[in-house]
Amino acid sequence: MSDPEFRVVTDDQGEGVTYTCGCSCTPTARPRSADEAGMEHCCCGKVHFVGANAANALAAYLGDRKQRRKNEPAYELGVTAVRLAKGPVEVAWAFPQE
Ligand SMILES: [Zn+2]
Ligand SMILES: [Zn+2]
Repeated sequence: MSDPEFRVVTDDQGEGVTYTCGCSCTPTARPRSADEAGMEHCCCGKVHFVGANAANALAAYLGDRKQRRKNEPAYELGVTAVRLAKGPVEVAWAFPQE
């Protein structure tokens, strides 16, 4: 699988980060605050976090799910960055392995 391409979208909540998911959604995440990442978990099982320490927040989120859920898939993981108006932000993603 090639790495997803993240892009910035602007909606009524301001800037967010999305990608072409493959389902009918436009999964969009944005930083929750200057020091906290926000996330979106798409209906199709893909997750991404955007903002400060996105990779750490994603790892904690997936670790927690793994403890609580029986059928949690194996994920392909990656970290990248995109540039918002305020500057670059970290993007961490986890997509279920096909
Ligand atoms: Zn969807
Ligand atoms: Zn999706």
